[in-house]
Amino acid sequence: MPESKTINFRRLLLLPAVIAGGLLYYVFMSVTHIKIPCVFHEITGLYCPGCGATRMVDSLAHMDLHGAFGYNQLLLLTLPLVMYLVLCAWLQYAGLHVNSSVKKTNEYMAWGLVAVFVAFGILRNIIQF
Ligand SMILES: [Zn+2]
Repeated sequence: MPESKTINFRRLLLLPAVIAGGLLYYVFMSVTHIKIPCVFHEITGLYCPGCGATRMVDSLAHMDLHGAFGYNQLLLLTLPLVMYLVLCAWLQYAGLHVNSSVKKTNEYMAWGLVAVFVAFGILRNIIQF
């Protein structure tokens, strides 16, 4: 018999709060042109797997797909999968039931994605693309 879980409404508010924070940062950045630099890039001079993500989102907000692709190819291509995994993790965190086989599949996809992003982070500093 499946266990019944109660929904944690405080945890349910986490993702909307993070999205609202991101939107506030975007508005702040658009008005002031002050951006949070990548700490990894500032220290090492190398690109991390997430470098260009802010500019990619900015380009997407302006419907500039070509520009977005130029800033972070992998993140743009995997964005639907990343959003799906974040959404599932958030629902699970809030106490909503997620099928155990879906949960296991998502876990494999998340670790696979981490491996691909690490490889991308290494390759983007060796090969210019
Ligand atoms: Zn970076």
